[in-house]
Amino acid sequence: MSLKADLTSADLNEVRQSALGAADPLGVAADLAKAAGDGRLADPQDAGLALALAAEIAESRSKLDAALRYVEGALEAYGKRDDSPVASARALRSRILFRTGRGDEAFAEVEPLRPLLTQYPDAPAYITAALAVGGRAVEAEKWLTEAVDQVLAERGAAEPSDADDAGVLFFLLQQRHRLRHALGRQHDTHDNLAERLETRLANAAPVAAAPATDLVFWPEAEFNRLVKQTDAYGTTWAEHRSRLEHELVRQAAAGGTDLAVLPGSVDALTAQAGVGGDPASADNRAAYARKLSTGTARLPWPPERNGACWCGSTLKYKKCCLPRSRS
Ligand SMILES: [Zn+2]
Ligand SMILES: [Zn+2]
Repeated sequence: MSLKADLTSADLNEVRQSALGAADPLGVAADLAKAAGDGRLADPQDAGLALALAAEIAESRSKLDAALRYVEGALEAYGKRDDSPVASARALRSRILFRTGRGDEAFAEVEPLRPLLTQYPDAPAYITAALAVGGRAVEAEKWLTEAVDQVLAERGAAEPSDADDAGVLFFLLQQRHRLRHALGRQHDTHDNLAERLETRLANAAPVAAAPATDLVFWPEAEFNRLVKQTDAYGTTWAEHRSRLEHELVRQAAAGGTDLAVLPGSVDALTAQAGVGGDPASADNRAAYARKLSTGTARLPWPPERNGACWCGSTLKYKKCCLPRSRS
């Protein structure tokens, strides 16, 4: 497989889905690294992601030297960025170092990520994976338990009303629950809570009550204007669409029907705020979302796999936002 000239975020997702089944996955990894090195990414910010993906592919083929080189390139490409993809790349570097027997360096890489367990929903998964590969599952269990205790203490005694509401707590509990099963532990009260939340998520009621704010869609030009005022809908348009696709998949899985995204406009959001109001405030955004949800402008979801994507990119749905739900 050879990659085309300019790789978009959607292409990277596609590669993520298909690379491990490719005839020559290491060739794909090398192509990704080259594309990043040559600046052939549609969004230069994706260079780190492309290299981290190359590292995962090489790691899966036990090419640990190459994997380490790629992931270090990813961290270099990320530069001073400080967000979940960067933490994920550092956890990946830790995991690869553990695999090469460099346990002390590996631990030194993953340990500073520990406070992120309560910050990013996906952090429990990548941090636990690094420690487990390093034979430090007991340590991971301790970190997860302390993070769960911390979040529960911050929330007060109230049990989350559903898995969605639980947010980071849900992912911590879920990861801890799995890890403890792997370690052969008896259920404790956190495991019981994890199981209740997992069951509730699986049986979530049809989500007519889901807040409309979750389905406001900003077309690319609108998003680019709005992101200067707020990152409430994602920091990139790709992230914005990925969130929407995830939410739609979740609602569909929970039995939701007649799903659609609600296209928004910055001018209308601003008008909603009134003179002197803050268009980007949570209250104004919620009010605008409620207004959109009672209007007629809606883009039905999902489109046909081979049909035009709902996001207006002009790509086929299967090549654009469909794979975002799996990233
Ligand atoms: Zn269990
Ligand atoms: Zn799309």
